[in-house]
Amino acid sequence: MPEEGTQAADEIAQRGDRSYNPGMASKQGKAEFRRDLLRWFDQNARDLPWRRTRDPYAIWVSETMLQQTRVAVVIDYYTRFMERFPTLASLAEAKESEVLAQWSGLGYYRRARALHESARAVMAEHDGKIPGVAAELARLPGVGVYTAGAVASIAFGECVAAIDGNVERVLTRYFGHEPVPGAARSGELRRNAEELVDPDRPGAFNEAMMELGATLCLPRAPLCLTCPLRQGCATRGEHSVPRARKMLSREIGRVLIQRRQWPRTEVLLDQRPADAPQMPCFWELPQIREGREIKEAALLTLRHSITNTNYYVTVYGLNSNEQKLLSESHGERAWVPVRDLQGRPLTGLTLKILRRLKVMPGYSGRGPAIALDEVAPDADLEFELAVPENAT
Ligand code: SF4
Repeated sequence: MPEEGTQAADEIAQRGDRSYNPGMASKQGKAEFRRDLLRWFDQNARDLPWRRTRDPYAIWVSETMLQQTRVAVVIDYYTRFMERFPTLASLAEAKESEVLAQWSGLGYYRRARALHESARAVMAEHDGKIPGVAAELARLPGVGVYTAGAVASIAFGECVAAIDGNVERVLTRYFGHEPVPGAARSGELRRNAEELVDPDRPGAFNEAMMELGATLCLPRAPLCLTCPLRQGCATRGEHSVPRARKMLSREIGRVLIQRRQWPRTEVLLDQRPADAPQMPCFWELPQIREGREIKEAALLTLRHSITNTNYYVTVYGLNSNEQKLLSESHGERAWVPVRDLQGRPLTGLTLKILRRLKVMPGYSGRGPAIALDEVAPDADLEFELAVPENAT
């Protein structure tokens, strides 16, 4: 009887896959991988707020926020979100606009809507108890294979893989596979990942893989010399590096109009229509009428990056009697009290402008607002700006 994995290694060798790491196919190879990885993680894991709990709801929130977004950006959003919605029931009872307001600036707003919808589904269909296995979690609205695996393994101890972009990169390099977008969803990489998960500590194993990808096995310059997996790694830095994306440039104008309605100050905002293809119902600063440029009224210029486009934004300060310079609103246009802004879903760009101009404070008085440039630039699900019609 051949040892487990030897046969698989032989089969792959016969297929001519020279990149396969045969040591991994054996029981011993897997055990060493787990041991080295977990030992490193136990000594180096970052102290993150969602790692101080095993509450499935809190872990679910954090894993949803962490998709496509860096840890440094998520920490403040997660903390505020959990203060506002400390339980699944409190999230389920909230209005969607309240949930989106807490998510404003984090991007990928479809995640927030799906999380909210799923919270309601759990309350209605599961008696308020989050399902404890990945297969059931994945049936909830907007819960993908990754999130289901992460929550099931970390909160409930199910032995299932959770493969995000970081983990996919580690596995691809470790096994010497050619990088193929989406490879983690099926095929050999997925099988490799499922076989590797530590049955005794599946949650810690998955967190360790994510941590390794986020802190050592970096996209462009991996820190292989300090990597606990370097002995068995097939590439150790000798891998193809994804080419940097070519960014497009666009210039646009936004307008800040404030008025004093004693005792309060108000800001003029447009709300996107409910059927808008991107960010429906979000509030934003009005746009300047096309072709208008009022140099003397420019308050600020800034760059705002979304997917593969850098938007160079000029913000004009106008008086309330100059509204004829604004482009037409496609939804509601309203004067919003400054003190109510925190409770409204604002587009990321609007939030950024209002904070830079000190119309709004930073996060809950906890230091400066996070620079929204830090939000993952490869947001391809939703756009925060209406792309001009003549954009190519
Ligand atoms: S040795 Fe280098 S390439 Fe291999 S897994 Fe570690 S950091 Fe990544």
